[in-house]
Amino acid sequence: MSWQYKCSKCGSQVNPGDMVTLVAIRGGAQMLVGFHPEPGNYELYKPAGSEFEQGDTWDFFCPVCHTNLKSETHENLCELLQIEDGVRKRLFFSRIAGERATFVVREKDDDVEIHGDHSARYDATIQIKKS
Ligand SMILES: [Zn+2]
Repeated sequence: MSWQYKCSKCGSQVNPGDMVTLVAIRGGAQMLVGFHPEPGNYELYKPAGSEFEQGDTWDFFCPVCHTNLKSETHENLCELLQIEDGVRKRLFFSRIAGERATFVVREKDDDVEIHGDHSARYDATIQIKKS
């Protein structure tokens, strides 16, 4: 399985190696963080000494064009374009630290893959997407 992730705004690939690398900002704190490319794997790579308090809401930005990746679908979700083995999908992930909720929506037919222990919190949002 191979995944490419792109900024929906500028189209730049944000996982040039493997891990998805985004700018994270909250209050005065800003850093580069890496996410595992496999949906549902919540391993997080962050700079030494940095902390993500559970429940804190972060903003994530494209490292190339600096667009805020916050989704219009739900204020707690961010959105990226995912290309999995040539198939275009929209990937949504929670921007709340410690919240495991990821949705992958295939563009051609809106088929939805759901990952994470807390994904049910967004049932209403994702059901709307499916209908
Ligand atoms: Zn961008």
